Amino acid sequence: MLAQLETTLAEVFGFPTFRGRQEEAIASVLSGRDTFVLAPTGGGKSLCYQLPGVALEGTAIVISPLIALMDDQVQALVQMGVKAIALHSNLAWEEVRDAEWALERGQCDLLYVAPERAVTPRFLDLLQRVKVSLFAVDEAHCVSQWGHDFRPEYMQLHQLWSAAPGVPRIALTATADARTQTDIVERLPLRSPTVVRSSFDRPNITYHVTVKDNATAQLLEFLNTHHQGDSGIVYVQTRSKTEKVAEFLNRNGWRAMAYHAGLDPQLRTDVGRTFVREENVVVVATVAFGMGIDKSNVRFVAHLDMPKSLEAYYQETGRAGRDGLAANAWMAYGLQDVVGLRGLAASSTAPLEIQKREAHKLQQMLGYCETAGCRRRQLLAYFDESAVERCGNCDNCLAPPVTWDATVPAQKLLSCCYRTGQRFGAGYLIEVLQGKISERLTEQRHDQLSVFGIGGDLSTREWSSLVRQLVAAHHLNPCPDGHGGLQLGPQASSLLKGETRFEVRRDSTEKSSRKAPAKRGNDISWSTPEEGQLWESLRALRLKLAREQEIPPYMIFHDSTLREMVLERPTTASALSRVSGVGRSKLERYGELFLEVLRTP
Ligand code: ADP
Ligand code: ZN
Repeated sequence: MLAQLETTLAEVFGFPTFRGRQEEAIASVLSGRDTFVLAPTGGGKSLCYQLPGVALEGTAIVISPLIALMDDQVQALVQMGVKAIALHSNLAWEEVRDAEWALERGQCDLLYVAPERAVTPRFLDLLQRVKVSLFAVDEAHCVSQWGHDFRPEYMQLHQLWSAAPGVPRIALTATADARTQTDIVERLPLRSPTVVRSSFDRPNITYHVTVKDNATAQLLEFLNTHHQGDSGIVYVQTRSKTEKVAEFLNRNGWRAMAYHAGLDPQLRTDVGRTFVREENVVVVATVAFGMGIDKSNVRFVAHLDMPKSLEAYYQETGRAGRDGLAANAWMAYGLQDVVGLRGLAASSTAPLEIQKREAHKLQQMLGYCETAGCRRRQLLAYFDESAVERCGNCDNCLAPPVTWDATVPAQKLLSCCYRTGQRFGAGYLIEVLQGKISERLTEQRHDQLSVFGIGGDLSTREWSSLVRQLVAAHHLNPCPDGHGGLQLGPQASSLLKGETRFEVRRDSTEKSSRKAPAKRGNDISWSTPEEGQLWESLRALRLKLAREQEIPPYMIFHDSTLREMVLERPTTASALSRVSGVGRSKLERYGELFLEVLRTP
């Protein structure tokens, strides 16, 4: 049995070995058990139902929430020679008819269907005439109200099971939250499932967090230095900002497009399509851009505004580097993010329990930004996973930050906040400390205070950094009126009394932050110019073939497959078939064309 599976894996999917815990999940499905697969984005979950779908007799019914996602998967499977069909509302009636015929005649290994369609009488009736091999529920967190993408249609899925009560169900999600997981098992339901949980680590992603100075210029510098010729996503908080940043990147030699929920639907589809089908495209988007974007060679995800939770941050950064090659997650954040999000939380009218939970999530996000330790370790800790002390692949591990004892300046700042009445913003407090006379300041008679001018020893930049870290640590809080004023937080008094010390990280200066080693992955740099040229020729051929068929280039071969071709230089069909990602069907279709390029001296 196992040998048979490995043959199918190699022949159909072109992969030499299973990845992570795929084999366990697949064995469980094949033995007829319900199975729950938890793995991060890019963890290779799809194979856990696709391979059984191919191996078992009958049709695997795959519930998938987005049409774009279904179409992508089906196209990719068809490229591998698998009989896969998507049934959704964008099809013409003839297409629906053909699909139904194929199903009834047993000519379909995998059928992708949207949840709302799956529970219609017509579909349930159709299933009576189909031999179902298994049910797969992709993005299964959509069934949970705790999750971030709740879809009421998912609650109706139980109607589907009675069409084939004996077949195994497999549910898959990248949600690490325990409450959501329990919900999924109970609500679908899964019957005493085998739970296959992979590590949520994404070792090929390098994490960077930098302090905002001039964020768009910092972004440009980062992209110019590390991502020439790459595709990626830039997340911002507001619609208008997507347009502004995209325009800025366009003016500076990048091909960038804005994306947000307010765009005309047609335009939105076009942006999504261009992003997956072309190379070298940057999408500047709100969080609306994400689920359904399955592009495997997103080389960077950048955040110009801080997300509201680590969960959201991890989901978003997880879209980078699905192909396993090096990718960057880069974020710029500043005091405005902290104060803004805190202020938003403070003015919320949501029930207290929810407010508390959100405040806690924000705090964890801040902790991540401010940490002097390994970022990956913090991320994994959030998902209850332990990790080595230093991952060696985040900014803090690559260039450990310097920390210093800021207890005394912190006391000065808190006392300045207190003495000026706990209503002024950071900029003003710093002016008082630095002894900068202004009309406003003399009007308030703050030049008479004992704290006036006692902070000349630190630069404005250093003071700002300290304020940010004080806010992050709850020594300072934004005033509830939301005007940017600061007041003392719950932790302030112990610091003022000298009962605790305040150790902070020193922000990297402009120069050193430029040098911060953001690896442009050792992975994709070439040791000789010839290799670089070969890589470009292979990419050009791939793009040409993709355009002819109107499919994304990575559906022909992933970047990782092309990279292996460059390094291994196969010149015969049998050598080429040993490259990971080259299955039988693709070898037949494209083998000769790629070999021609590979044989060119
Ligand atoms: P997920 O659904 O968990 O986000 P995918 O199923 O999209 O992940 O898989 C991520 C990438 O890993 C895809 O490019 C896929 O082709 C690749 N992949 C999956 N399984 C294997 C494997 N056994 N060997 C090599 N690559 C794999
Ligand atoms: Zn690290």
